Amino acid sequence: MFEKELEALNKSHLARTIIDRESPQGQRIILNGRQVLNFSSNDYLGLANHPSIIKAVNEFIKRFGYGSGASRLLAGGTSLHRELEDKIALFKGTESAVVFNSGYAANTGTIPAIAGDQDIIFSDKLNHASIIDGCRLSRAKTLIYRHKDISHLEDLVRKESMSYRGDGRFVVITDTVFSMDGDIAPLNDIYDLCISLHSSLSTQHSILLYIDDAHGTGVLGAGKGALTHFNIKSEPWIIQMGTFSKALGSFGAFAAGSKDVIEWITNTARSLIFSTALPACAAAAALRAFYIIEERPELISRLWSRRERLVSALKEVGCDTGESRTPIIPLITGDLESTVSISSALFENGIYAPAIRPPSVKIPRVRITVTAGHSEEDIDRLAEAVRKALQAR
Ligand SMILES: *Cc1c(COP(=O)(O)O)cnc(C)c1O
Repeated sequence: MFEKELEALNKSHLARTIIDRESPQGQRIILNGRQVLNFSSNDYLGLANHPSIIKAVNEFIKRFGYGSGASRLLAGGTSLHRELEDKIALFKGTESAVVFNSGYAANTGTIPAIAGDQDIIFSDKLNHASIIDGCRLSRAKTLIYRHKDISHLEDLVRKESMSYRGDGRFVVITDTVFSMDGDIAPLNDIYDLCISLHSSLSTQHSILLYIDDAHGTGVLGAGKGALTHFNIKSEPWIIQMGTFSKALGSFGAFAAGSKDVIEWITNTARSLIFSTALPACAAAAALRAFYIIEERPELISRLWSRRERLVSALKEVGCDTGESRTPIIPLITGDLESTVSISSALFENGIYAPAIRPPSVKIPRVRITVTAGHSEEDIDRLAEAVRKALQAR
């Protein structure tokens, strides 16, 4: 069974394997018994193994135990979950927030909660897979606009508003930071477009903006995320999704917005209702991470200074880093074979930077993520290894 399919995957360099780490997450990790310099993790601020988070987790395991035993709606959650939600709302400048078990669960639960078969979704071509799945589950008509292309988005919305007779909602959905290219959505333009559509649409459609700030939270806007980066205030028609799994170094996710929207999501998101609550200790870790981000702004400035150093070093050795504006840096080196061979050459040199291939992305690339935990020497070592790998090609 599946023998032929697997063989075809192997032949085309598309087979994936699960790689088991034998150490904590960090800038140095152990893979296959060997220590390597790690440029693969989304733990941008080095919080996944932070002593004060581990301490918080231990404390709350003692207080609440480990398993949660039921969904949030059946007392699976704790007062700590509520405290975390209050903190998120404060942090994101919204009235309210609700916690999900993962970013994947947040998108596949929230999107069907806010859009149904009477509604229309406008989704960026390069949105994360969990958004794509959320759109499918919603049964809403979903129109894909070209990546970051505002005029295409506007065309699609205006066309729909003219032909559509129902009174459904229009929902614009975008990643803030695109997870494979490290580029940033033009949220200021999207925001302005939504404002102009609010006042100009001939129909009674309401327009919602749903942003996935998984890679923006803890990274952009002094850690507050993409809206702060663009100097946009939260509005009742904006829903901010984000995760604890990237810069917060933890596990879980959230949706934040107006009181009514969050109450509606809590009542209808199936991934929240029909799934056991996040353990209290995971909520404790995320809560502690928000405080660390506020108490230690130097973590974020170090992240950005390492990122700038790496990008200029890579440019110097002639690398194409695409449209990257964030700590996610793709090395686009041509075909699949050369991408895989560069990633392997780096690994030979003790550096882990994985090759990302279809169907995760259309154009193969080595995906590098820089963190605040990397030293300047680590960055220089990577740039030198990339130079050698490109030369040896
Ligand atoms: C990682 C990611 C998710 C999924 O989050 P998890 O917590 O890992 O399930 C969703 N959206 C984007 C843009 C992501 O990068």
